[in-house]
Amino acid sequence: EAHKETLGFQAEVKQLLKLMIHSLYSNKEIFLRELISNASDAADKLRFEALSDDALWESDPELKIRIAFDKAARTVTISDNGIGMNRQEVIEHIGTIAKSGTRQFFEALSGDQARDAHLIGQFGVGFYSAFIVADKVTLVTRRAGLGAEHAVKWESAGEGDYTLETVEKAGRGTDVILHLREGEDELLSSWQLKTIIRKYSDHITLPIVMNKEEWDAEKKETVVKDEDEAVNQASALWARPKSEVTPEQYEEFYKHVAHDFEAPLAYVHAKVEGKQEYTQLLYVPAHAPFDLWDREQRHGIKLYVRRVFIMDDAKQLMPYYLRFIRGVIDSNDLPLNVSREILQESKDIEAIRGGSVKKVLGMLEDLAENQAEKYATFWKEFGRAIKEGVGEDFANKERIAKLIRFSSTKTDSEEQSVSLADYIGRMQEGQDKIYYVTADTFAAAKSSPHLEIFRAKGVEVLLLAERVDEWMVSHLTEFDGRKLQSVAKGDLDLGKMADEEEKKEQEQEADAFKGLTDKIKDSLGEQVKEVRISHRLTSSPACLVAGEHDMSGNLERLLKAAGQ
Ligand code: ADP
Ligand code: MG
Repeated sequence: EAHKETLGFQAEVKQLLKLMIHSLYSNKEIFLRELISNASDAADKLRFEALSDDALWESDPELKIRIAFDKAARTVTISDNGIGMNRQEVIEHIGTIAKSGTRQFFEALSGDQARDAHLIGQFGVGFYSAFIVADKVTLVTRRAGLGAEHAVKWESAGEGDYTLETVEKAGRGTDVILHLREGEDELLSSWQLKTIIRKYSDHITLPIVMNKEEWDAEKKETVVKDEDEAVNQASALWARPKSEVTPEQYEEFYKHVAHDFEAPLAYVHAKVEGKQEYTQLLYVPAHAPFDLWDREQRHGIKLYVRRVFIMDDAKQLMPYYLRFIRGVIDSNDLPLNVSREILQESKDIEAIRGGSVKKVLGMLEDLAENQAEKYATFWKEFGRAIKEGVGEDFANKERIAKLIRFSSTKTDSEEQSVSLADYIGRMQEGQDKIYYVTADTFAAAKSSPHLEIFRAKGVEVLLLAERVDEWMVSHLTEFDGRKLQSVAKGDLDLGKMADEEEKKEQEQEADAFKGLTDKIKDSLGEQVKEVRISHRLTSSPACLVAGEHDMSGNLERLLKAAGQ
């Protein structure tokens, strides 16, 4: 299949390319960061695959990234000796956007440039950012382990299509050759390229090399030598002392590990000593990824052992409800040949995970306490995931419950800003329970007839309208010694808030109206368990109530909708 073929981009790629060139132009140097980031990922993948197949190293064990330029040809080339791609992989990864959430992303685009640029940032554009500065991109790649004659050359002007050709390439890995657009010649300078690399890619742990340049006194010009020069520090950022890492460096490192264009909301960097020794650098993104609710989503925590990359997305290192946390954990104790299977059963991993969860919860508590605005952003983006935690992470249930924010009748606003501590602080004299109502929508929760008596008595009720809420309250039955009580379940018991006289009156009324309630019960038959006189309502004539131990009406509706 040495033939050259022309293939069309997936429609979304065409759309993305156009949008990106326009909206990211003001920040065009990020193309280099993205291509270096991919080269570094490719090296990580090679290391991981080579753990089980030594032959992939071929005879080239020194992983590195090379940046070169050619003034006459007006090209900049980014090369790596990482995993490379075969023909099929090129088609899948470079001609298609395989990311989940692609459809929602394109639906969210508005045509407003500033807003869309922001969205692109969240979505991540990676490889295609090459077209911000190049009007033609050539990619030559050979997958590790394949013969030299099985390399692939991909080429595109970034318009509607690309060509593919089988070529020869001696070394494994990938060369990305950028044919610069008119007016981008300032990139043809080693000083300029080095400046960009140091700004955006200093944290990359592989050496990024360029050809050395030297002033030739005889020729009176700088000449390019046949000798390499490392441009970056190539030392693991997380292994440096905190005092030696700038906020900008933390931020750039985040963008690389999280495949995000935007700065993180918060991070925690700590070295843990003791039985288990490990370093953790963990970030909270500023936005939920498009695929937060997709169980197949990628990019979690990267696992390193003594600075050596082991694997991406080590799911065993974070519980599911914290799946949005990004970053690195570097262990001093695990064996280098640790596999996913070993991770699953390892007691060491359990200890590391436990410690990391505590660090993350501590970081969130700190945000909640000291940076209210950031915490509100965090809650809006990730609150639903945190709510899952009360059912998933029994050991930290109380801490998680403190982090949860609710809507309530105090503000009647959909924004979730009330903590359980706030609620308890406002409880009425004699109130001993935390009341809540669940419904399908916020509007339904807010106008539930069950709330009437509570509003009349000035008792605050939490308004729960998210899908996860039913699950949450089934696990969070108590907080700080107070029972959480649905206002739609069981007998209305306002505890000491209803005075003795009121209670007596109610009993008498129930007797007086027994004839009527019996009649209603007879005519409704099996549809209801019981008909009662109630003081819950102040303006609605009647409402449905679930038994104390029955499913709530809302959960019943959810299950029905799910076909159960
Ligand atoms: P992301 O890095 O977030 O996956 P990119 O657009 O940057 O998105 O890259 C898309 C995919 O193309 C990568 O996931 C990878 O599979 C492949 N790819 C890109 N550059 C390289 C490279 N230098 N070596 C091997 N594969 C690459
Ligand atoms: Mg990338």
